Amino acid sequence: MQIGPDTVVSFHYTLRNAAGELVETSRDSEPTLYLHGHGNVMEAIEKQMEGRSVGDKFTAVLSAAESFGEKVANSIQRVAIKYFKHAGKLVPGQAVRLNTDNGLMTVTVVKVGKFSVDVDTNHPLAGQEVSFEVEVLDVRAALAEEIQHGHAHGVGGHHH
Ligand code: ZN
Repeated sequence: MQIGPDTVVSFHYTLRNAAGELVETSRDSEPTLYLHGHGNVMEAIEKQMEGRSVGDKFTAVLSAAESFGEKVANSIQRVAIKYFKHAGKLVPGQAVRLNTDNGLMTVTVVKVGKFSVDVDTNHPLAGQEVSFEVEVLDVRAALAEEIQHGHAHGVGGHHH
């Protein structure tokens, strides 16, 4: 079966930064599962997945714009500590997810104070080309319920 609209894809990935250093890999845990054609993964990855099948391996090189965004200047913001879940454990350089008016954002911790945290709203990987090494492990037709929900169900996918 080929990857196309309304298929559920299981894959392993390894993400590297512009210097080729390992940032993150799914190989330490369950493969990632997603419903194709519903914008659940980066658009550039979805494009390169199209038409592939089980066993396919490829490396997708993504520009900053296609992955974690261009670096924005003057991006340091002071945020009250109550907005952080694990404020006591924050360290500078760490990437954290923050609920903002614009939705869930990944920001970089710059400085931790007693009442507030200075964060850089740039994603730690902003402004650089990154690469994803991908291996397709499974492709199946999506269930009606998955299409209705707009995401894949099961291990590595969405849980309710
Ligand atoms: Zn669901």
